[in-house]
Amino acid sequence: MSAPPRSIRPVPSARGRESAPPSPRLALRPRIALMDTTLRDGEQTPDVAFSSEEKLRIARMLLCDVGVDRVEVCSARVSAGERRAAELIAAWAASSGQLGRVEALGFCDDGRSVDWIRATGIVRMNLLAKGSERHCHLQLGLSLAQHLQQIARSLEAASRTGLELSGVYLEDWSRGIRESPEYVLELTQSLAELGVGRVYLADTLGVLAPAQVRKYVSRMRRRFPGLSFELHAHDDYGLATANCLAAALAGVDGLHTTVNGLGERAGNACLAEVAVMLRDHARRATSVTETRLLELSELVARASGCAVAHHAPIIGRHVFTQTAGIHADGDAKAELYCSALAPERFARSRAYALGKLSGQSSLEHHLRALGILLSPAALARLLERVVALGDAKRPVRREDLVALAQQDELPAQDGASGGSENGHPPLGHPPLEQPHDT
Ligand SMILES: [Zn+2]
Repeated sequence: MSAPPRSIRPVPSARGRESAPPSPRLALRPRIALMDTTLRDGEQTPDVAFSSEEKLRIARMLLCDVGVDRVEVCSARVSAGERRAAELIAAWAASSGQLGRVEALGFCDDGRSVDWIRATGIVRMNLLAKGSERHCHLQLGLSLAQHLQQIARSLEAASRTGLELSGVYLEDWSRGIRESPEYVLELTQSLAELGVGRVYLADTLGVLAPAQVRKYVSRMRRRFPGLSFELHAHDDYGLATANCLAAALAGVDGLHTTVNGLGERAGNACLAEVAVMLRDHARRATSVTETRLLELSELVARASGCAVAHHAPIIGRHVFTQTAGIHADGDAKAELYCSALAPERFARSRAYALGKLSGQSSLEHHLRALGILLSPAALARLLERVVALGDAKRPVRREDLVALAQQDELPAQDGASGGSENGHPPLGHPPLEQPHDT
């Protein structure tokens, strides 16, 4: 393509923000942009459909509480419900000064996506283009030149109606750059000539490994130093977060995420994992408020109906619970089993599970919280009971320790054990025979 049409406005590059000095306290390298697409790509999870009100609530929390840079909230021309949700979010964003951070996905469809998005009140579009020769030829049945004409028509339509282009997706870029690099490089060069400033490198099928991401992102950056690149990673091999790290180390300007890693097939890169990984392993600053990540995760889990795995990093229910007695012992002595992932960082607290792996330190931790002091012999007998219950697959809660200690007929020191005189568990205490939902 020749000179860019004058009507197309160049996109402000994320690189502009990189000149901001890093926080001297944290000594982080330049900031990296996070674009969260829970409400667009994340909603492509089977059986998930957010209501308009849920979409608005999630968008608000993403932008105002957790603080990602931008959100992609819908695909153009999907449904009447999608239009209502987009209108609701756009109206709120316009009234609260957030409209420039809200984006919608549009397609190369001779301006129909542009009209649809513009009518909702959203002012920024991401355009989907084919990032591999196979997709271009076999799905669209077009040559690269023909596809570029489509793209140019969409960009001109956007410019005509005042819809700003945020970026262009190179769908299936990961396979394109491996199998048809000339196609990808020519497409990207033409996009730059069309005035596109930001390009999304999509690992649409999650096929890349970190070393490949680093190699191919570096190649794109070297070849197009004036463009801003963002990685759109999927998790088909469980490598989405690692691939985001590789991209960050290769100098990418932004990353795409979804809350709880929602998305088609194995999902997308998980916002909580990526935000925390960036800070701890890539030393790249983000705008994310870590203490709000769990609340956002819970909101999306409720709205989507997709529960978060108990062991999901950062946001899983049990990820700050030590189970092995030796871990509790090490923590009590010198915080030997603590890491940079301190629960307080995420407004959470450390817990110690009770069961067959419990040790004396785990038990003492809970007894202290209950105000119970036992002799060493009584403590050993209580531990035996806890371990036996764990062996029998019977979960033990902290509250159960009161009754278990009483079975030994040893009085508690401050009455916190309930103090029943006949040796029975205190009134109102749940019977131990009932398994508990822990
Ligand atoms: Zn995707």
